[in-house]
Amino acid sequence: MSTTPAVSVKNLTKIFKGSLGKGAFRAVHDVSLTVEAGEVYGLIGPNGSGKSTTMKVILGLLKATAGETSIFGIPSTEVASRHSVGFLPENPYFYKHLNGRETLLFYGRLCGMSGAALKSRADEMLALTGLEDAATRRVGGYSKGMLQRLGLAQALIHEPRLLVLDEPTAGVDPAGSRIIRDLIIEFRARGITVLVTSHLLEQMQEVCDRVGIMAHGRMVREGRLEDLIAVENQTEMVLENASPA
Ligand code: ADP
Ligand code: MG
Repeated sequence: MSTTPAVSVKNLTKIFKGSLGKGAFRAVHDVSLTVEAGEVYGLIGPNGSGKSTTMKVILGLLKATAGETSIFGIPSTEVASRHSVGFLPENPYFYKHLNGRETLLFYGRLCGMSGAALKSRADEMLALTGLEDAATRRVGGYSKGMLQRLGLAQALIHEPRLLVLDEPTAGVDPAGSRIIRDLIIEFRARGITVLVTSHLLEQMQEVCDRVGIMAHGRMVREGRLEDLIAVENQTEMVLENASPA
């Protein structure tokens, strides 16, 4: 049995051309990964390791220098690949004078939605993300955690099958991060595939079915976290046994 993966990345390399006399920079080097439909996949790595760049190529926002990426079998270079995706960028921008509900209605209209269907979808997403009590408050007064949840509600408005979340818990306090992690688990329960980045492994380890660990633009480990930890422990044991007493 073979099902189409939600995300496929094959031998992706992304080089940013130099500007103002600076040389070209290879941000992503020969990265491959597969996100199966229905799973939560964590792309983990320190700042600057190439996570956001990889996501942007997957989303069709940046062009690959080499390699291929696709979403549910449709190449990222085709606009149709974007219809099934909701995206929460790093530091999402909102119009501060709109309230939470207006924000979702505005974004929904940009996605081609309208009327009663959009209104009920917006209210459903506000309830799902725990923002119904804040729905008529101006977004300018929201905390960082509330803004991230509004970003999740916005990303979900057009009923995507795949959510791509770039550092959803960055800058959010521990209680707010907990709520966002619980929401990711809820999204999976609803059948939504999630690709999420974080520079903090411990933030994401309990929600991710599998992780890919990036460093300096390369994929250095990929798999189920328990297996990776077991391998690390074994490596440590081998090293301990090998070192002189
Ligand atoms: P991460 O999301 O893991 O923090 P990024 O993918 O944002 O990493 O960045 C990877 C590397 O690529 C960094 O060194 C960054 O400075 C560089 N980079 C990102 N975007 C650009 C760009 N538009 N032009 C040049 N370099 C970039
Ligand atoms: Mg990033």
